[in-house]
This record gives sequence, structure tokens and C-alpha cells, in this order.
Amino acid sequence: MIKSNASDKRTLKTIRYDADLIVVGGGLSGVCSAITAARAGTRVVLVQDRPVLGGNASSEVRLWVLGATSHMGNNNRWAREGGVIDELLVENWYRNPEGNPLIFDTILLEKVVSESNITLLLNTAVFEVQMSPTPKSPSGDLGATGHIQSVQAFCSQNSTMYELVAPIFCDASGDGIVGFQAGAAFRMGAESKEEFGEKFAPSAEYGELLGHSMYFYTKDTGRPVRFVPPSYALDDITTIPRYRRFNAKEYGCQLWWIEYGGRLDTVHDTEQIKWELWKVVYGVWNHIKNSGQFPEAETMTLEWVGTIPGKRESRRFEGDYMLTQQDVVEQREHADAVAFGGWSIDLHPADGVFSEKPGCNQWHSKGTYHIPYRCLYSRNISNLFLAGRIISATHVAFGSSRVMGTSAHVGQAAGMAAAICAREGLLPRDLADGQELASLQRELLKTGHHIPGLQLHDPSNLVPNATLLPSSEFVLTHLPPNGPLQPLTDSAAQMLPLPTGPVPQMTVFVTSDADTTLTVELRRSSKVKNHTPDVTLQTLTLPIQKGKQEVRLPFDVVLDGPQYVFVMFIKNEHIQLQYSQLRVTGVLSVFNKTNPAVSNYGKQEPTDDIGVDTFEFWCPERRPKGHNIAMTIDGGIALFGASNLTNGVQRPTSQPNAWVADVTDSSPTLSLRWSEQQRISRVELFFDTDFDHPLETVIMLNPETASPFCVQDYVLCNDRQERIHETIDNHQARNIISFEKPVETSQLTIHLKPKPGQAPAALLEVRCYA
Ligand SMILES: Cc1cc2nc3c(=O)[nH]c(=O)nc-3n(C[C@H](O)[C@H](O)[C@H](O)COP(=O)(O)OP(=O)(O)OC[C@H]3O[C@@H](n4cnc5c(N)ncnc54)[C@H](O)[C@@H]3O)c2cc1C
Repeated sequence: MIKSNASDKRTLKTIRYDADLIVVGGGLSGVCSAITAARAGTRVVLVQDRPVLGGNASSEVRLWVLGATSHMGNNNRWAREGGVIDELLVENWYRNPEGNPLIFDTILLEKVVSESNITLLLNTAVFEVQMSPTPKSPSGDLGATGHIQSVQAFCSQNSTMYELVAPIFCDASGDGIVGFQAGAAFRMGAESKEEFGEKFAPSAEYGELLGHSMYFYTKDTGRPVRFVPPSYALDDITTIPRYRRFNAKEYGCQLWWIEYGGRLDTVHDTEQIKWELWKVVYGVWNHIKNSGQFPEAETMTLEWVGTIPGKRESRRFEGDYMLTQQDVVEQREHADAVAFGGWSIDLHPADGVFSEKPGCNQWHSKGTYHIPYRCLYSRNISNLFLAGRIISATHVAFGSSRVMGTSAHVGQAAGMAAAICAREGLLPRDLADGQELASLQRELLKTGHHIPGLQLHDPSNLVPNATLLPSSEFVLTHLPPNGPLQPLTDSAAQMLPLPTGPVPQMTVFVTSDADTTLTVELRRSSKVKNHTPDVTLQTLTLPIQKGKQEVRLPFDVVLDGPQYVFVMFIKNEHIQLQYSQLRVTGVLSVFNKTNPAVSNYGKQEPTDDIGVDTFEFWCPERRPKGHNIAMTIDGGIALFGASNLTNGVQRPTSQPNAWVADVTDSSPTLSLRWSEQQRISRVELFFDTDFDHPLETVIMLNPETASPFCVQDYVLCNDRQERIHETIDNHQARNIISFEKPVETSQLTIHLKPKPGQAPAALLEVRCYA
């Protein structure tokens, strides 16, 4: 029994943690930052003020995670970010193809608590920052006005205070609680057009901040259910200009446009904004249930309403560089690139749901863009990393970089940088160039974290010294005509990787219900790294007769460099194109259709001079659709060889970058042969988890639980053909095989066992370490 006499005052129990890195905020950027740092050997404390991880992606808010793939609705091909965020999304695909937000919570929690280097504090809010003099470092103290010594946090569940001490801090809290209190330079609201020459900078009338949103989920109970609204529900929803858009079918983040608060202080007025959003949500549901206009809602009930509003924007902190509209649109390259974005610049009217204007104003770039390292640390707090939506970007650039796939990717870069700082006794700015930057980029690439244009050069990898002996190498001679016949109601294109030199002649399979002409264009992208077909190389006008026929495409174009080309079939109501069942890594079809969810109306055409480009969208279809266009290719395309395994790129980019075994190879193997015995303690394999698939975490259903390009079962053997490792049921891109005792061998053979009906076996990279 505890009996405590009266006292003047008591103090709370306080626990002190000393770590290498304190990550504040357990949204996706904080989670990915913490896991990346922990795996690099850093002792991390991850502090999250709410009961689960994920922030806006958690079951508390229920946003789907998106990034550069943009729902597969723009021209960014194979643009999933890679690294830890990819592992999380692919795991969610495997366990949760139905998109249940509760399952995603469990995956995040599991991944974090599996890391022995992470101390996770849930329900614990950081509220205070202690500063100390800036220590001397090669460059970190230049311009520094402060250095964080520790942060204090409080958990109301266990009534405990925490003192969290570390040399490095990462603020991933969304509002920047650490940066704000530490005195880091920040901004809130929009820059003028003049400050950075950003033509898309919004006027005050449009609004300078994005608001919060609140969602609801419904369920059909199968019997009539009545709804009595709470007294605070909005009475008259016709005060909402878009009330006609409400229906009984949309739920969750399809309701992103129930937005409010862009004219308020989105940090300090959040509770007020939440009440306004609750009023709207319950008012809308009252309208759906009780107006008589939605008989289909008779048996429906509210299953869930958000209690925490999804916050889009508050503070943005200043780093040594601010990302701008021009960086995004012109895809400016930065030597210190450590992450990339690819969502549209997506601004919203500040009046949100009460505005007469469209709910968003989205403009895409022709491809992905670099995010420099200098955006990821405070310019004046010497030991503070920034991750997530608070990185150093203008309001306009933030309109793109804020989405969670990108935020998480940035978090990974900050986490790896923090690990290097902690290990080497450096401060964030010390890594901004030279060997330290190269080391940061290399360590990130090793994890599968993609940085466009960068190749991994890893001196400790043993594979470049080995001879690669594949059992076969795929040559793309034909995509057999064994798939569906589809009308050419929208223009369709086959994307093909080609080497320098003459474009091969091809034959396609066409059925027509009348004599007509077929227009076929051969296009490429003006920038080799992009997949926006904005350069026409040749146009063929071919006579087509009524009936079924093979059509020859007599191209006479010579490519001056290796690149993807687009063989485009312009829409024709008479024609049906024959498709193929064969799917191959790095080969896909695209269509000039629309995807209004991401402001893709077939072509992007700004009417005003807002500093964005005009171009067409050519996007793939989701599986089970998305077949390749059947064709034969004279001479074939031989770009799927084993030499791709050592080119330092782990996904298709301007070339497939994959070793693909021949379709007829029933037991594909790859042997790595060294002239001398090696001691191998770790092997890393990278498989194709289809980096084009956006893998939204909620609502969207997936037809499969793993990529059809991903090899699930494989065996490793030594030079005596003894089995030294076996994996069954793999679905992840990165596979790490660690041997308790190093394997001594002069040869390593990887036996891939693709499942019947799968795409031909593919491997994107193999690395071995002593
Ligand atoms: C309605 C809406 C629609 C959006 N649409 C999309 C979309 O479709 N796809 C997409 O990818 N992105 C979308 N975004 C953008 C995206 O959700 C955010 O920009 C993103 O969440 C940023 O990630 P983050 O980790 O920086 O912040 P958050 O996800 O907000 O995570 C920050 C975390 O820090 C915690 N935290 C805050 N203060 C403290 C503290 N003092 N102590 C400890 N922890 C703290 C919070 O609880 C939170 O979990 C949307 C945003 C909104 C609001």
C-alpha cells in the first residue's frame, strides 16, 4: 500500500535516455528516419505523441501514402522511392491488399519494435528544448546560433517525464516543435512571386496555407439504420459550395477536399479547425442520411470519424538551401541530391471546402526532381535535422515535396546522415559535400534508396571482381499475341528500351472493322532520364484493311544514345490491338487516358504563365490490366544481360538495369565465379517489386499480394554445389542473407525458382561482402 502524507508539491517521475539520435515525431518520415539510422548502428529514441505510428498515414487519420508514383497518373515511371519506405509499402501489399488502415499501423509498429537500436516512446509529447553552446566541428558551427542539448517529453499514460539527450536531433513532428523552440529560422505562409521568381506563387486572395482535413468511413449494416446528428453538426450544408458532390459512396481519403483552416494559424488554431471539420462531417452525413436524396444510404451507418485532423501545412524550416518551383519543374540537378520527389505541385485554396474554387490546383513536372541534402538540416541550429513536410522548401515547392512517400524518403536520408554524424562525431553541415556527402549517398543507395542519376560504387562489394555466368539472358524478340484484343479507343504505346543505333523494325497484330489508316508515332523523351514522350522521331501512316492482319512498322530512325522509346498507336475507332500475356521487367505499355484524381486530363496545358510545362500524359494501366502490346521485334532487344547486375542501379530507369532470364529457361541460375577463394559473410539481392506500382496504403485494392516480377523462392549454393541458403515466399526487393560463419568459396550460384505463370525471373542487383 502507498500512503503519502500531504506535501507542498510533488515532482513527476523522470527518466533520462542518452542516445545517438532523438527523432521527434512518429509519422512516416520519423519512422523511416529512425529505422534507417538504427540499422546503420545508431542508438535512437523515437518519440511519438500519439498511440500509434504513421502520423497522417496512421489509422487515426487514414491518408494513403503517395509519392513520386502519383497514383500512376503522371509520367514518372518506376518512381517508388525505395529504402525503408518501400519495405513498408511492399509489406503492406503482402499483408493488406484490402488497404485496411489498422493493418498498416501494425506493420509500422512491428518494424520499429523489431529494431533493437530503437527505444520507442508512444503517447509521449516533446514540449521543451534545452540548448547548449555549439561544439567545434569542421563546418557545423558556421552561422550556428544554437545547439540542442536535450528535449523534454511527457507521457500522460504513465505520468512520466523524459529527458532525452543526444548529440543529434531530427525534427519529424510536422509542426516542427523542436526547431521552433530551438530558435531555428522558419517560415509559415507563401513566399511572394518575386522572392524566388516562382511564377506559381499564390496570391493572398487564393491563400497562403493549406488547411486540415477530416475523413469518415461508412459501412452497410444490411438493415435500416437511423442517424440523429449531434447538436454541433452543420445544419445547412448548402453553405458548402461543393455540397452537390457529396454522395454515399465516397469515404476516407477520397474526401480530401473536406478541408478547412488555411486562413487560420494551422499550429495554434488546430483544435478550432477540428471542431469546424467535425461540424462539416456530421452535417454532411446528416444530409446523406436524412435529406431523402440518398435512398442507398438507408442501411448505412458511420463506422469511423477522424478525431485528429490531417494537417497539411504549418511551419517550413530554412536550411542551407530552399527547394523552389524551378527545382521541381526544371528538374534541376544537385550534386548533393539525397532524395527525390515527383508529386505535382499541389496547392489548395485556403478557404478549402468553403471556397468556390476547385479543391486543388496541381501541376506536374515532366519527371522526378532532386531534393538536395542542404534542405534537410537547419541553417542555424547546428545539430538539427529536418524531415517530412517541414524541410527547407518554399510554399510552392512544398506543394510537391509534402506527400508522405517523399517525406519518408527525406526522413531516410536524414536518418542515414544522422547515423554518419553520430559515428564520426560530425554535425549535419559537415556532410554537405566532399567525401562525407559521397559516403552518405553511397550508404543510402546500398539500402535501395533511389537517387535519380546516381549509381552505387561500393568498394567493399566483391561481385565486380567476379565473372558472372547466367544460365540464359532474355532477348526481347517478341511479345506473343496471346493476350486480350483491345479497341484503340485511347491512344496506346509500347515502351521499349533501346540501345544506341538503328531502331529495329517491328510487327504488330491488328484487327479492323473497316478499311482505314493507322498512325504510328515513334517518340522519345527530351531528357534521357524522363519518360515523357515529348520528342517525335518518326510518324508512320499505314493502310489497314478490314479484318485481321500483321502490320509492319518500318522505322528508319537511328538513336544517338540508349533510351526508352514509345511506339505509339494513335486512337482509331475501327481498330483493335492485340496484347500479350507476357510481362517483363522494364517493359510496359502506356496510354494517353485521363486520371482526374491527379489532374491528368491527357495533356497538361497551363493557360496562364505560371512557370510549368505543357506536355502529354502517357501512363500505364493497373494490373490485372496493363498488358504489353503484342509485337515481334527484328533482331530483338538484348538489354537484359547479367552485366546489368553490377551497374549500380537497382530499378529500370533509362534502361531496364536488370538481368532477366530467358522465358524458356526453366531453372534460371546465376553463378558468380572468382579466380580465388572468397570469404563471404553477407549477400544482398535486389528483386523487382515493380517500382511503378504506387502501393497506396488504404482504400485501393491490389489484385495480388506481391509483384509478379519478384522471385519468391531461391537457393544459394557454394562451389561444391552445396546448398548454403534457401528463401521461400520472398516478396521484398532487398534480401539480406547473413551467414553466421563466413562461407569460403570461389563460386556462388543463385538458383531462382519463378512460379508458373510469373514474369521471367529477374534480378536487379547482387552484392557480396566479406
Ligand atoms: C488531408 C490531407 C491529404 C493529403 N493527401 C496526401 C496523400 O494523398 N498522400 C500523401 O502521401 N500525403 C498526403 N498529404 C500530405 C501528408 O500527409 C503530410 O504532408 C505528411 O503527413 C507529412 O509527413 P510528416 O511525417 O512530416 O508528418 P505527420 O504525418 O504529420 O507526422 C508527424 C508526427 O509527429 C507527431 N508529433 C507532433 N508533435 C509532436 C510532439 N510534440 N512530440 C512527439 N510527436 C509529435 C504527430 O503525432 C505525427 O504522428 C495529405 C495531407 C492531408 C492533411
